[in-house]
Amino acid sequence: MPLPQPYTFVCPLCRGVLSATTAEYRCEPCRRVFPIIMGIPDFRVFPDPYISLAEDREKGRRLAEYGHAHNFESTVAYYYAMTPEVPPDLAARYTRYIQTGIDRGRALLGAMAPPESTADQGAGRSLLEIGCGTGGLLIDARENYSHVVGIDIALRWLVVAQIRLREHGADVPLVCCCAEYLPFLDEQFDRVTAGDVLEHSVDQQRLLAESARVLKPGGTLFLVTQNRFTLRLEPCVRVWGVGFLPRPWMNAYVRWARRIPYHRVHMVSYVELRRLLRKAGFQAVRVMLPDISTGERRLMTGWEKIQIAVYNGLKRLPIIRMILYLGGPAFWALGHKGPTRKS
Ligand SMILES: [Zn+2]
Repeated sequence: MPLPQPYTFVCPLCRGVLSATTAEYRCEPCRRVFPIIMGIPDFRVFPDPYISLAEDREKGRRLAEYGHAHNFESTVAYYYAMTPEVPPDLAARYTRYIQTGIDRGRALLGAMAPPESTADQGAGRSLLEIGCGTGGLLIDARENYSHVVGIDIALRWLVVAQIRLREHGADVPLVCCCAEYLPFLDEQFDRVTAGDVLEHSVDQQRLLAESARVLKPGGTLFLVTQNRFTLRLEPCVRVWGVGFLPRPWMNAYVRWARRIPYHRVHMVSYVELRRLLRKAGFQAVRVMLPDISTGERRLMTGWEKIQIAVYNGLKRLPIIRMILYLGGPAFWALGHKGPTRKS
């Protein structure tokens, strides 16, 4: 079933015109077929690095089946019960991360709309969220944007997002695709946001170039990403000091410390982040130190809460702020697409 149209789908590989049936999209020029699974178009050109396409779809089907008779929270618990390879302490942490998704999304939506740009928030504005996961941000985004769409490389998580959106009476289109190969025509969105996504991308430069491509002239990209050189524990795998190692050593170190792979995670520093955004053609690039939201604080241990209270105080002091750009926990980054399109 074709989605309601504030935007137009194209082939993510050749950008050719697509024909649609209730079961699939078909690219006329390159003949590729993209199935629609449980109402979600699957435009992926490569799988989620942690799971094959077939396994992801099968897991999605099982979650959808379970979700018919259970609520969102139970379905998240069911997901981790069927995914024993995630260590229990990390599963508990990821569950809390998911549960606080609406709060974190709300904080991000607030940060994305600085006072001088509130005029941008009127009717007719559209938002694309890259890496929407279980859809926490999408729920409140509907209040500020007339068109909202969430994309993720993990079909199984989009199925869980469907359950959450249904519970909130939110009708938000979800699309399964690679952030590096977006299935949208150029210049479709006023805002693109991606929280905790860049560090998991197989090609960060391409992800940013694709974000720039689908933004309308004058549109903005808002990113949240973790700092490679954070002085805290690495937030995905909870190991200290990973970012200070040479990149080729990181995977072996995390495997030794946690028995889980790390070769797909690529955290960036302040300098790298600015360089990537400029190279992707963004103007007026701003990298900021994030406010730590209530949602995020709920994820923290007592000691971490003390650290964050200190961080929130220190980042108001100009000299200390410079140091936090080097060793702080994370960044917010804003990039504007120029008013006219590059030819
Ligand atoms: Zn094609």
